[in-house]
Amino acid sequence: MSSTPVPDITLNNGATIPQLGFGVFQVDNDEATTAVATALEVGYRSIDTAAAYGNEAGVGRALAASSVPRAELFVTTKLWNTAQGYDSTLVAFDESVAKLGLDYVDMYLIHWPTPNRDRYLDTWRAFEKLLADGRVRTIGVSNFQPDHLIRLLEHTAVVPSVNQVELHPYFQQGKVRGYDRAHAIATEAWSPLGQGGELLGDPVIAEVARAHGRSAAQVVLRWHLQLGNIVIPKSVTPSRIRENFEVFDFELSAAELGAINALDRGGRIGPDPDTLN
Ligand code: NAD
Repeated sequence: MSSTPVPDITLNNGATIPQLGFGVFQVDNDEATTAVATALEVGYRSIDTAAAYGNEAGVGRALAASSVPRAELFVTTKLWNTAQGYDSTLVAFDESVAKLGLDYVDMYLIHWPTPNRDRYLDTWRAFEKLLADGRVRTIGVSNFQPDHLIRLLEHTAVVPSVNQVELHPYFQQGKVRGYDRAHAIATEAWSPLGQGGELLGDPVIAEVARAHGRSAAQVVLRWHLQLGNIVIPKSVTPSRIRENFEVFDFELSAAELGAINALDRGGRIGPDPDTLN
């Protein structure tokens, strides 16, 4: 039983994930330990890291030091591109769980499809083995376009539970979200705050924020939550870590959601999954 106000999303394999989690991209090991400790104190139970972030050990230290029972935590890590392939995935997974100090992870994601490398089918078969062996509770993908998912579903057995993609009001990913929804794949938003850039100064967001006496970041997170997205905002600032968690006691109206929906520009902040290798 969780004592936090965060709703759970039930995934296509029956597992549940908190709809709001905590991301630690571009945070070093020591900073990750401090930030994750703060997040756990505030009430976050889902933590999103990756082998490529170089901070699995720092995250693991915070988890080990916390009094939150393992069963209440939802820990996600990701396989980096250079480790794609069947055997190399199994080796990389062992390294990740060793660094995290865990004997299983709640969710393991293929970080990028890297279509030119053309190994994601074999990689996924290794993910299916990790799932069957009970080393991971849930398997998913990240940055998969519908074309990559169509191929994955055609050639492998387990449908991914989650697709974690860049998603925020300036880049709303209509096609990806539509494909995910049609195949019972939950969509998780990375850079949900647009990395704290121009989006948080947008006049439409500011207007909605004023109407609710909330911050722009809180309004953007609320928009995601009401759309049904899973979100993993990042901050290393304790006041912001808390602020980003205090989003369950107000609601945007249909008109406010519509005004934010109209901000879509279709432009990414991050790399294009079709070309990143
Ligand atoms: P984000 O949208 O969460 O923005 C984080 C930045 O926004 C912070 O560094 C800070 O500058 C600012 N910020 C945070 N809270 C704020 C607040 N309350 N008020 C004002 N400014 C605030 O961006 P992100 O870190 O890129 O994405 C979140 C998480 O998503 C990452 O930490 C990582 O876990 C994951 N991610 C995954 C991928 C992927 O390829 N799968 C890529 C990028 C990020």
